[in-house]
Amino acid sequence: MDINSYKGICVVAEATSANKLTGVTWELIGAAKQLSEQLNGEEISVILISGNNDVNPLLKEISEAGAQKCYLAQDDKLAAYSTEYYAKIICDIVNAKKPSIMLFGASTTGRDLAPRISSELNTGLTADCTELGINEKGLLAATRPTFGGNLMATILCKSRPQMATVRPKVLARPEAHSSNNLEIEKINVKLDGVPLRTKILELAKSLSTACVTIEAAEINVSGGRGMKTAENFKILEDLAQALGGAVGASRAAVDAGWRGHCDQVGQTGKTVTPKLYIACGISGAIQHLAGMNASETIVAINKDPDAAIFDIATYGLVGDLFEVVPALTEAIKKEQLTAAI
Ligand SMILES: Cc1cc2nc3c(=O)[nH]c(=O)nc-3n(C[C@H](O)[C@H](O)[C@H](O)COP(=O)(O)OP(=O)(O)OC[C@H]3O[C@@H](n4cnc5c(N)ncnc54)[C@H](O)[C@@H]3O)c2cc1C
Repeated sequence: MDINSYKGICVVAEATSANKLTGVTWELIGAAKQLSEQLNGEEISVILISGNNDVNPLLKEISEAGAQKCYLAQDDKLAAYSTEYYAKIICDIVNAKKPSIMLFGASTTGRDLAPRISSELNTGLTADCTELGINEKGLLAATRPTFGGNLMATILCKSRPQMATVRPKVLARPEAHSSNNLEIEKINVKLDGVPLRTKILELAKSLSTACVTIEAAEINVSGGRGMKTAENFKILEDLAQALGGAVGASRAAVDAGWRGHCDQVGQTGKTVTPKLYIACGISGAIQHLAGMNASETIVAINKDPDAAIFDIATYGLVGDLFEVVPALTEAIKKEQLTAAI
């Protein structure tokens, strides 16, 4: 492999059902800009795969986020996500264009696609990264938690492209700029003969609203093992409702079956960065902190004054959550009532 023939940073874009770029795609383009600055301005490209629907709003966003080039693959067969088709198109583009770095969101699609592509291209993949940089030799330094989240490992890759998936919400979303000139290259999609081992029968959206809520909410009230039962989460729902926020949970609460997995905050759950995070009956294990420690203000309610969560909390309330939380909800409601009069 002539590694010197590989140049540039390429992001694989994802779109929502509302025909918008996903948040993580913006974050990846933002990261690509920072990497490019450290690589003497190497090109930032985006791969956009789509059915034959209107891609103009997506191209506008890709340009606003700061990409310089877009490889656009459009075909009726691509309307629904297919691992085999998407992987074939991306591998063809990589083989032809030779980007040095490939970035994917650690979303359901990215987690499915990236390992298949890295194996097909015989290159390395660092999954679930929380930080990206360039080392002194110009290599991608991809950092991710390891040993159950107790250590952070920075991984380098000798082969090309250097591939990484990055969790949503761990990197900053770049400002939108309208002046960028996006070069669009249409890809001649060749899918004949690609063996399909999966067939999509139906797309169900059942849990998606709850999942979006905890990542998008500006206020998050989360409960842990200290909640003791599923029913007790009602007091957190009342507090979240009074504040206009969403309810999250630690893994202990999810494993106990008190909340669904899509509510889980942490290393193996969602990363959230709300303006206010209220942790109730959560001890503050490193794997939980990995999903919420970038929140603007953290309030911890715990009866153990030595709980690790207090080390990162902006405000700590030592006490029984079953007394503190309802009192807090009442006080907030009273305040809102006074303000309304
Ligand atoms: C590979 C790996 C991945 C993981 N991923 C995640 C993840 O994504 N998210 C995650 O959360 N965890 C994750 N974990 C688990 C993590 O290590 C902890 O076990 C978990 O976060 C503990 O949850 P908890 O804080 O709710 O429970 P505990 O650690 O049991 O803490 C319960 C807390 O409640 C307090 N409490 C009890 N009763 C009350 C009361 N009445 N009033 C006030 N406080 C009270 C206690 O003092 C205690 O601090 C992972 C672990 C591993 C090994």
